[in-house]
Amino acid sequence: MKACMKPENGKVEIVDVPIPEPEPGEVIVKMAMATVCGSDMHFLDEFANPMLDMAFPGCVQEQGLPMGHEGVGVVHSVGAGVTRLKEGDRVATPCMIGCGSCHECMTVDFSQCTGGGRVLFGCQAEYYRIPYADVNAGKIPEAVNDEMAILASDILSTGFGAVERAETGFGDSVAIFAQGPVGLCATAGARARGAGLIIAIDTVPERLEMSKKFGANVVINAKDKNAVQEILGLTNGEGVDVAIEAVGTQATFEQCTQSVRKGGTVSSVGIYGLTPSISMPTLAPSFLHRKVVTTLCPSGRDRMEHLVKLIDYADVDLTGLFTHKMKLDDLPKAYDLFRSKEEGVLKIAITA
Ligand SMILES: [Zn+2]
Ligand SMILES: [Zn+2]
Repeated sequence: MKACMKPENGKVEIVDVPIPEPEPGEVIVKMAMATVCGSDMHFLDEFANPMLDMAFPGCVQEQGLPMGHEGVGVVHSVGAGVTRLKEGDRVATPCMIGCGSCHECMTVDFSQCTGGGRVLFGCQAEYYRIPYADVNAGKIPEAVNDEMAILASDILSTGFGAVERAETGFGDSVAIFAQGPVGLCATAGARARGAGLIIAIDTVPERLEMSKKFGANVVINAKDKNAVQEILGLTNGEGVDVAIEAVGTQATFEQCTQSVRKGGTVSSVGIYGLTPSISMPTLAPSFLHRKVVTTLCPSGRDRMEHLVKLIDYADVDLTGLFTHKMKLDDLPKAYDLFRSKEEGVLKIAITA
């Protein structure tokens, strides 16, 4: 089968490898759709393969790191002991795999697994493996297409998670810093959750345009304007109830802390990559009596099945997110395009 591998930093290639065989508890999925994510860029450009193999033992294979953690497909073969899935089931899988039985899986979230779970590497291939399949693979209803179902695996869960974990309430004002795919999902999530004023901030005009479609009332191009001043101006100088950081930089985190009101919440979901630490201004008005919450893609089978139901039944339309369609063979080009942020690229649908 064809699989996208990273032999060294900054480089991906399509290689020929055997179709995987399921170990006990696993299923092998025939990929229907995969996609490229901002986190893939961190894995590709910043984290060397030996470092990744230390963090996630066994993830690096002979030809490199199997790329891709967002995928949907159809169960192709079923390992011993799997009870909930059979050949032919359409499934969405979270980008973070949980074992289902460790303390963190049972009490915190499957994304925090310490019992053998980790990032689901390898979705950018004709077939990929889902460990602990009963725990992780959520079934997709027929009415939900691949483009929508694949969003559940990461950006929808992450973006909505940022809104949920900030306990955003009806009528709350929300500012979302960065309108990449995760930020756009947070914007849609804030709208779906019943927020009032939603302010979207970015520097790419196409992304700001899209954020209006997803529910933003006001957009701020941070190239032209001081976002913090604008937000304070829109909220009687008080700041918003919830400020969401959705890109992973010191500057945007700091701006979140400066634009959230007293008693408000800074909700951080951006991936900071190799940034070793971020800091928070301590002088008033940005520090006293605020909450800070961080979220890593809420995961597990139930989360997947809830999110696809949300797409199926609720008034959540994320159709504009897929701006490009490419084939598995084109993944090296897809990575270059995604890195460049040119052509208005948001999500690239990859099919075999
Ligand atoms: Zn992702
Ligand atoms: Zn676990």
